Amino acid sequence: MIQKKVKSKKLKQHINNFLKKDIYKNKKIECCQICGGKNYIKHGSYKGIQRYKCKDCGKTFSNMTNSLWSYSKKDLDIWVKFIELMIKRKSLRFCAKKLKISVTTAFYWRHKILNGLKIDSVPKKLEGDIHINKTIIVENFKGCRNIMTTKRSNIWVIAAKGNEDSMLVMPAFKHCWMRGIFYEKVYSRIEKGSYIIPYNDRYITAVAKEHNKKLIKERKEDDRVKFIIMNIIKWFSPFKGIATKYLEEYLSFFILFNLDRKIDYVDIICYLSFGNRFIRTKEIGL
Ligand SMILES: [Zn+2]
Repeated sequence: MIQKKVKSKKLKQHINNFLKKDIYKNKKIECCQICGGKNYIKHGSYKGIQRYKCKDCGKTFSNMTNSLWSYSKKDLDIWVKFIELMIKRKSLRFCAKKLKISVTTAFYWRHKILNGLKIDSVPKKLEGDIHINKTIIVENFKGCRNIMTTKRSNIWVIAAKGNEDSMLVMPAFKHCWMRGIFYEKVYSRIEKGSYIIPYNDRYITAVAKEHNKKLIKERKEDDRVKFIIMNIIKWFSPFKGIATKYLEEYLSFFILFNLDRKIDYVDIICYLSFGNRFIRTKEIGL
């Protein structure tokens, strides 16, 4: 028989332990998480998680050390719910109220998560037929104090997608087309033998012409790149404007919504649980 009433506290504890054990069970320890030394020994366990002690620096650590939620006093299940709401692009105020955390905490969590996702969401290589487009976003100083200027620059956002299930969308340069930076940030990722399909921009069209040489292929368009302007406007609208200094982070998050495979909060939690994704609160500029 299914027990109808599960004590919420017990359930919460269960979710927490399950997540921690399951997520971290497979994460291998290769060196001390604090000094990087190889000289460490097992040092008991805490809440079912194996701990280690480093013989070089004398500190103890587990494979949770340096994960995104390291040092957070809040339970992991609140982080999980926060990520769920973030995927739904709920406002900070909404998340804070719903999860009973402060708006400031919600702000820092959002940026810790965005920063963690940024690390490798942009593809290192682009292969095959590569669709490239640009869009211009006007500079936004939201949240910045002491802005003396009323001038807003144009930010060039470049979108590029090859055959792989990934996409590049990044703020590349300010004001005007900069060929050198384009080559460094975008073109350098393009594999030899690829074919460039340009959209709506004479500079990108010129790059494509030079790259493709005499090769002319049948043009099959990719709506994610072709309509990048509309896609960004639509996706960004719940955020009510994004400060330019965070634009790159938000665009890395946007990429995850543009993959062929569907991702959910569990994928994001697993992804954020591995590797060194920890960022100190003070490293997030306010
Ligand atoms: Zn150490």
